[in-house]
Amino acid sequence: MSVLVVGSIALDTIKTPLEEHADLLGGSASYAAVAASFFAPVNLVGVVGDDFPRAHVELFERRGIDLAGLQTAAGKTFRWSGEYMWDLNTRETRSVELNVFETFTPTLPETYRATPIVLLANIAPGLQHHVLDQIRAPKFIIADTMDLWINIAKDELISLLARVDMLILNDGEARQLTGDTSLIRAGKAIQAMGPKFVAIKKGEHGCLLFGEGEFFSCPAFPLEDIHDPTGAGDTFAGGLAGCLSRFAGGGITFEDLRRAVVYGSVLASYNVEKFSLERLRTVTEDDIAERYRLFQRMSAFEAI
Ligand code: AMP
Repeated sequence: MSVLVVGSIALDTIKTPLEEHADLLGGSASYAAVAASFFAPVNLVGVVGDDFPRAHVELFERRGIDLAGLQTAAGKTFRWSGEYMWDLNTRETRSVELNVFETFTPTLPETYRATPIVLLANIAPGLQHHVLDQIRAPKFIIADTMDLWINIAKDELISLLARVDMLILNDGEARQLTGDTSLIRAGKAIQAMGPKFVAIKKGEHGCLLFGEGEFFSCPAFPLEDIHDPTGAGDTFAGGLAGCLSRFAGGGITFEDLRRAVVYGSVLASYNVEKFSLERLRTVTEDDIAERYRLFQRMSAFEAI
């Protein structure tokens, strides 16, 4: 069962209290597609400029990602720059250059249109709608979002919620979207807007999963050293979507999502160990299985 991932593909400049690196591979779709590729065949939809390094394309190719939906447009790749404060939790966006992303309106290759699992990674809700309009009979649709879209495209985001099975967002965004300080009430309120399942991420404090009248609180895998939190949320979403593709034969249940959330958290924990996708580049399926087992022992959840 394959996964369609659409989102941004970026060249990021990241500053942490200890290091600064320019023009790293980033973007919501890059992280999500590579994370999903550990579990499922991935169809990638995105745009890059003619300055996009060949080495980054080769990483996608090595992960077996289908690139028929990757457009190269004349101009520069989308660039984003962010700076982390001392706690590596608070982040400020320093600059955004949309470049080729500004006019991106993807036409999905015919071979992508029946992909069963669809991950609308973080991009403008209008583009997320545009991609859904081209999909035939999807089994499960997941959307990610960010504070920017709640600020500038709230109506489109709310109408998208009626079309998706699951929304993933972080704690601040859940409060912003619902106006409720209680994350438990916020999770339920978002479900009432359409999606059957909601995951609220809480950074180093894990995530909350809501669905089918049930609730699961998943911790984050404890790490001593975090080098770059960028893309943790996208990696979580990609790992989760990839894992779900294994259950997509029947209907996807809360139990399936519980397991997918744990795998998503494992992938995200690897991602933050190095800058950009450097750790995802080298991690193996055995590493993932090993950390999953360790996580289970530490966190006292059953063999799920
Ligand atoms: P995260 O750390 O999960 O919030 O994701 C960070 C990634 O999102 C970076 O690699 C950025 O390139 C990408 N990004 C930042 N702003 C946007 C935006 N407005 N639209 C799409 N992707 C973005």
